[in-house]
Amino acid sequence: MKKYKKENISIGWEAEKCIHAALCAKGLSNVFKPKDRPWIQPENASKQEIIDQVAKCPSGALSIIYDEE
Ligand code: SF4
Repeated sequence: MKKYKKENISIGWEAEKCIHAALCAKGLSNVFKPKDRPWIQPENASKQEIIDQVAKCPSGALSIIYDEE
Protein backbone atom coordinates (compact mmCIF):
# COMPACT_ATOMS: atom_id res chain seq x y z
CA MET A 1 0.00 0.00 0.00
CA LYS A 2 1.20 3.48 -0.82
CA LYS A 3 0.51 6.23 1.71
CA TYR A 4 0.05 9.95 1.24
CA LYS A 5 0.19 12.04 4.41
CA LYS A 6 -2.29 14.78 5.32
CA GLU A 7 -2.08 16.32 8.79
CA ASN A 8 -2.85 13.48 11.22
CA ILE A 9 -4.11 11.05 8.59
CA SER A 10 -2.76 9.30 5.56
CA ILE A 11 -4.53 8.32 2.39
CA GLY A 12 -3.79 4.69 1.63
CA TRP A 13 -3.92 3.42 -1.94
CA GLU A 14 -3.70 -0.18 -3.02
CA ALA A 15 -2.94 -0.26 -6.73
CA GLU A 16 -4.03 -3.87 -7.16
CA LYS A 17 -7.55 -3.07 -5.92
CA CYS A 18 -8.02 0.06 -8.00
CA ILE A 19 -10.44 -0.45 -10.87
CA HIS A 20 -9.59 2.93 -12.37
CA ALA A 21 -13.16 4.10 -12.36
CA ALA A 22 -11.75 7.60 -11.82
CA LEU A 23 -14.51 8.57 -9.43
CA CYS A 24 -11.87 10.08 -7.20
CA ALA A 25 -10.41 12.14 -10.05
CA LYS A 26 -13.83 13.42 -11.00
CA GLY A 27 -14.95 14.10 -7.44
CA LEU A 28 -11.81 15.80 -6.15
CA SER A 29 -9.72 16.68 -9.16
CA ASN A 30 -7.26 18.87 -7.25
CA VAL A 31 -6.07 15.92 -5.22
CA PHE A 32 -6.48 12.83 -7.41
CA LYS A 33 -4.54 13.42 -10.63
CA PRO A 34 -3.93 10.15 -12.47
CA LYS A 35 -1.61 11.82 -14.97
CA ASP A 36 0.69 13.39 -12.38
CA ARG A 37 3.39 11.94 -10.14
CA PRO A 38 2.66 11.61 -7.32
CA TRP A 39 -0.89 11.11 -8.50
CA ILE A 40 -2.38 11.86 -5.07
CA GLN A 41 -1.67 15.42 -3.88
CA PRO A 42 -3.26 15.80 -0.44
CA GLU A 43 -2.09 19.39 0.02
CA ASN A 44 -4.73 20.61 -2.44
CA ALA A 45 -7.89 20.00 -0.38
CA SER A 46 -9.07 19.95 3.20
CA LYS A 47 -8.79 16.84 5.30
CA GLN A 48 -12.58 16.50 5.43
CA GLU A 49 -12.92 16.75 1.64
CA ILE A 50 -10.38 13.97 1.29
CA ILE A 51 -12.09 11.76 3.86
CA ASP A 52 -15.45 12.22 2.11
CA GLN A 53 -14.01 11.39 -1.31
CA VAL A 54 -12.10 8.34 -0.09
CA ALA A 55 -15.38 6.98 1.31
CA LYS A 56 -16.82 6.97 -2.22
CA CYS A 57 -14.13 4.79 -3.79
CA PRO A 58 -16.04 1.82 -5.21
CA SER A 59 -13.24 -0.73 -5.03
CA GLY A 60 -11.83 -0.15 -1.56
CA ALA A 61 -8.48 0.81 -3.08
CA LEU A 62 -8.47 4.06 -1.13
CA SER A 63 -8.53 4.12 2.64
CA ILE A 64 -7.91 6.55 5.48
CA ILE A 65 -5.29 5.64 8.03
CA TYR A 66 -5.32 7.64 11.25
CA ASP A 67 -2.06 8.37 13.01
CA GLU A 68 -1.66 6.61 16.29
CA GLU A 69 -1.98 8.95 19.24
S1 SF4 B 1 -12.15 5.96 -7.00
FE1 SF4 B 1 -10.97 4.23 -6.17
S2 SF4 B 1 -11.10 2.65 -7.75
FE2 SF4 B 1 -11.67 4.60 -8.71
S3 SF4 B 1 -9.74 5.38 -9.61
FE3 SF4 B 1 -9.99 6.26 -7.55
S4 SF4 B 1 -8.82 4.88 -6.25
FE4 SF4 B 1 -9.20 3.77 -8.12
